[in-house]
Amino acid sequence: AKPTNLSTSSDSQGFVRVRGAREHNLKNVDVDIPRDALVVFTGVSGSGKSSLAFGTLYAEAQRRYLESVSPYARRLFHQMAVPEVTSIDGLPPAVALQQQRGAPSTRSSVGSVTTLSNLLRMLYSRAGDYPAGQGIIYAEAFSPNTAEGACPTCHGLGRVYEVTEQSMVPDPSLTIRERAIAAWPQAWGGQNQRDILVSMGYDVDTPWRDLPQKDRDWILFTEEQPVLPVYPGYSPQETQRAIKRREQPNYMGTFTGVKRHVLHTFATTHSPLMKKRVAQYMLSSDCPTCQGKRLRPESLSVMFAGIDIADMSRLPLKRLASLLEPFARGTARKQVHDAEHPEQAIVARRIAEDLAARLAVLLDLGLGYLSLERSTPTLSPGELQRLRLATQLYSNLFGVVYVLDEPSAGLHPADTEALLTALAGLKDAGNSLFVVEHDLDVIRKADWLVDVGPAAGEKGGHVLYSGPPEGLKQIEESQTRRHLFADAEVALASREPRTPTGWLHLAGVTRNNLDQLDAEFPLGVFTTVTGVSGSGKSSLVSQVLVELVAEHLGQEVSFEEEDADALDQPAPVTLGGQITSGMEGIKRLVRVDQKPIGRTPRSNMATYTGLFDHVRKLFAATPAARKRRYDAGRFSFNVAKGRCENCQGEGFVMVELLFLPSVYAPCPVCHGARYNAQTLEIQYRDKNIAEVLGLTVDDAWEFFAEEPPVHRALTVLREVGLGYLRLGQPATELSGGEAQRIKLATELQRIGRGNTLYILDEPTTGLHPSDVEKLLVQLDGLVEAGNTVIVVEHDMRVVAGSDWVIDIGPGAGEEGGRVVVAGPPAKVAKARESSTAPYLRAFLD
Ligand code: ADP
Ligand code: ADP
Ligand code: ZN
Ligand code: ZN
Repeated sequence: AKPTNLSTSSDSQGFVRVRGAREHNLKNVDVDIPRDALVVFTGVSGSGKSSLAFGTLYAEAQRRYLESVSPYARRLFHQMAVPEVTSIDGLPPAVALQQQRGAPSTRSSVGSVTTLSNLLRMLYSRAGDYPAGQGIIYAEAFSPNTAEGACPTCHGLGRVYEVTEQSMVPDPSLTIRERAIAAWPQAWGGQNQRDILVSMGYDVDTPWRDLPQKDRDWILFTEEQPVLPVYPGYSPQETQRAIKRREQPNYMGTFTGVKRHVLHTFATTHSPLMKKRVAQYMLSSDCPTCQGKRLRPESLSVMFAGIDIADMSRLPLKRLASLLEPFARGTARKQVHDAEHPEQAIVARRIAEDLAARLAVLLDLGLGYLSLERSTPTLSPGELQRLRLATQLYSNLFGVVYVLDEPSAGLHPADTEALLTALAGLKDAGNSLFVVEHDLDVIRKADWLVDVGPAAGEKGGHVLYSGPPEGLKQIEESQTRRHLFADAEVALASREPRTPTGWLHLAGVTRNNLDQLDAEFPLGVFTTVTGVSGSGKSSLVSQVLVELVAEHLGQEVSFEEEDADALDQPAPVTLGGQITSGMEGIKRLVRVDQKPIGRTPRSNMATYTGLFDHVRKLFAATPAARKRRYDAGRFSFNVAKGRCENCQGEGFVMVELLFLPSVYAPCPVCHGARYNAQTLEIQYRDKNIAEVLGLTVDDAWEFFAEEPPVHRALTVLREVGLGYLRLGQPATELSGGEAQRIKLATELQRIGRGNTLYILDEPTTGLHPSDVEKLLVQLDGLVEAGNTVIVVEHDMRVVAGSDWVIDIGPGAGEEGGRVVVAGPPAKVAKARESSTAPYLRAFLD
């Protein structure tokens, strides 16, 4: 494709000039930022980097772009608020490659995000080998999401669902009254069905297995829906008498067979939880027609290089690239005689060339272990960001500014080098890069630094420095400077590794790329698990280890709404593994992940950590509140008596606009306070409840100094580096890293436990090196208190300071999945085969 220049600004001598930026905590900032350069925004978490890069620069670029398009097109965009800034000159159009905050993305796959699937379908349609006599098939018919392509048996799902007596009635020793029919709805719905059976004269007090088969079959499998009088609360005898006497029933009820109920609910419910509930009573298996490949037989009969498109989409990208390479170079011998179909050979070469070029970019970014069919909800945010980056890399735009959010997240140092090469490619093509980043290796590669600080929240929001990296050396106030120019790279805790108190042994672990793996985790110490992206760290630690330990403890693996997405995914084909010893040393499992702490503005840090309960009690105990008989519930914005009724305690109301997406505006009644006027009259010391929710953790820590339970919770929040957050900051505004630290703080304030296994996935994501130090102090405290901490981590300073390292690899996907080396950091640093060793060495001795 021909390169497209989107830049319109030839003025300002190559600089973007920002004047008077005041978004969030920014203090009326003036700053000049060069275009056509790699600019890195640095500063402690909460200092205002994102408010400048995304909240101001990107938001303004988007606003200008939207002004230039038709109102119709405008509606298609997710609109950002207009930034608080006086002026910005010289700003090119911007593309944001942000990590998701909160809401999960819509369902898609690696192939659709990168548009590679479209190309592959075209390849099969135009250049595939068709069975003799079959006409050509259009590209759409190679997609299971179209009517032309979907397998007619499973409608493109790849799986078929059925129910059996066993699946719907797992325990036949129970009677119907004792809920033998587990698949029935809980509570009233199930009772209603039972009462109807009673009206029909069925026996609901005999164990299920002793009922006549004919009755059992009818109850489970009938398609009839008889309507009968219902007398709730009557015994079977009373019911029969009432029917005989034609007594007026309570209501008329419709019976639905159990199978019909389960299948109908599964197919039509909009509630993921409901879907998950009924799915328990169904058996699912690969579709017999398409064997799980989701396409109709005609589409699967077309081959390229000897395999069908479904198998092609399951190959790791690296293998796909080498398979296509001979076609791209024109050296492949196709099965169909090229001489007979010269046009087909030319088409194959064109498309294969295009595919190969795009695949090369993905391989360069270290994503060769993914397959096209892999669904995006199973990818980490970092992997998704790199996929979208790759798509930009071959889109041939120039004159654009790319705004990125911590692109190194989830990357092993070896992968970070590849990322930097890709970013350099975008810059050389004539683009600007604005990157928010904590990774020192990336910061060192910048052409220009914008350091924001000095601290977080109210104590930040100033640009301390804007210029080439060396100049930061002179800026005493900068926290970044201390880490960037440290004399030597030092481990965060240079001490003798602790001795494990025991070992947890896992055997025969089989999951994703792990095959019959044995692994052992030391107890009572701090372990880091390392390896390149895709080597199998998450499969081993966040999946298998968590599931096996939870199962042993009889603990539910958290059952959250978003997991319902996993339903549509086939379970991993190969599953296996067990704990062979060591569980006696573990009494509890705590997983601290980066999932959001809530999806509505109704949950926030204060409610999640439980500290708001104490605060509400303090308000209820004030003399004024007692005089009016206000209890603690009065001070909750989720309870009718105390909250503002106009906005129902949200503080915001939705405003419908004619051509634009609806926006939220502060509630005109409470002006965002969320409470009604009477509630706000009550003050604890000199603040009302809304003012308390507006305090930052740091300010609240001083305000509540005399209240031990509140003070302790706040102390821990400060210690994990969250002192800048406001107590009432809605969960929807928190980043994944902030959510993880809130969870960690919530755990840390439960004092006096031991024998707990803590599992964390890359807890340093989003953390400035200074914040990493604080986090480590906390994790160290957990170990000192008799617990075990296992962390998946890429930051070599953290790895160097751990007691034990398990390095997975050596490569990604098929080339990984083994324990390359395990031992104290000093031992791992010397391992020859380990891709981690060279990076770790720099932090030791
Ligand atoms: P950084 O990117 O340096 O971590 P941010 O720019 O995200 O910092 O945050 C700077 C300050 O602005 C913090 O005090 C943060 O709590 C606040 N903030 C961030 N997002 C929002 C928002 N959507 N609404 C209000 N305040 C916010
Ligand atoms: P890491 O945590 O080291 O980055 P992962 O455990 O996520 O590695 O991935 C290891 C391998 O397993 C990779 O080849 C990856 O593509 C594959 N994989 C991981 N999760 C899934 C999944 N949900 N479905 C299919 N493959 C997966
Ligand atoms: Zn099928
Ligand atoms: Zn209101």
